[in-house]
Amino acid sequence: MALWRKTADNKTARRAGIDGRAQIAIILNMNASEDTVLQVEDLRVCFRHGQNRTEVLRGLSYRLQKGKVLAVVGESGCGKTVHALSLLKLLPPGGKITGGRILYQGKDILSLSAEELRKLRGAGLSMIFQDPMTSLNPIRTIGKQITETIEAHTSYSNLRARAQAVRLLKKVGISNARKRLEEYPFQFSGGQRQRIMIAMALCLQPNVLIADEPTTALDVTIQAQILKLIRDLQRQSGMAAVFITHNLAIVADIADEVLVLYGGYCVEQATVHALFSKPLHPYTQGLLGSLVSLNKKVEHLPAIEGYPPAPGMPEKGCPFAPRCPYAGEKCHSCLPPLIEQEQHKVRCWLVEKNEKSR
Ligand code: SF4
Repeated sequence: MALWRKTADNKTARRAGIDGRAQIAIILNMNASEDTVLQVEDLRVCFRHGQNRTEVLRGLSYRLQKGKVLAVVGESGCGKTVHALSLLKLLPPGGKITGGRILYQGKDILSLSAEELRKLRGAGLSMIFQDPMTSLNPIRTIGKQITETIEAHTSYSNLRARAQAVRLLKKVGISNARKRLEEYPFQFSGGQRQRIMIAMALCLQPNVLIADEPTTALDVTIQAQILKLIRDLQRQSGMAAVFITHNLAIVADIADEVLVLYGGYCVEQATVHALFSKPLHPYTQGLLGSLVSLNKKVEHLPAIEGYPPAPGMPEKGCPFAPRCPYAGEKCHSCLPPLIEQEQHKVRCWLVEKNEKSR
């Protein structure tokens, strides 16, 4: 089929007078878009409080390929969670997507009907939230919560849905799974509740998993176990994932690509290797510089001085300028564009605009 299409494409291209190199570029592009499971284009989100309007996400764009993990990193208030909630159209009251597109397998999520959205959530895109205690229903057993989700999206009988729930709980490391289906969320530890949330997120075998700081509420040892579990399950199933975190240290283990958010803007995006080996944006450099090595003795914990900008600060100048050690006059008055350089996309006037700009 692929060969047939390639041959047909070649003939069409020759008829149109397109040369060999251009044909290869077209084919590569086509394959890139075929592999793209989620595409975010110039996404803008605002919140209204009375007469005031605060723009918290300012033109976010990325592509997520099948089977890949994109980590979205940044401090509190930079727009990470708003971005995650936008992907499923789950913004809280007052929040509104004011621009851009979110394409899931080529279809614009923002134009889907309520019923199409319901089908998409869980089976197409699924989410693990920060705090399982607020996401699980405290007065329903775990078994009911998982089987109801399965039954709502499939034609499974209750018996089959329960068997699937047992399988899922075992998969995420809950022992005595059959018996524990009858228990309520408060009867599980924090780590176990997060494992149950992972089981629920995976019960419909989604193509994209969105994990919003899934380990924030857990202690460090459990965090490591949960991260390993998510990564293992993601690799086994081949699903793509968007992993939201404020912790750059965990990104290296879990992600293929990293997008750094600051003040609602993407300030840098690169593969994990490129970002860790040569961060180009001063904010990313600061984040990496503040990671503490266990092998080095330090007197003071390194940190980026100052505070992140309040959501909705005026769209003037570089958002990092008040904290940046390299800020010049231009930085305070003009917003740098996001440009591509050395396998990075970066938003900083220090980086020469010698490749394509967007
Ligand atoms: Fe710093 Fe200026 Fe670059 Fe912003 S544009 S990160 S203020 S050097």
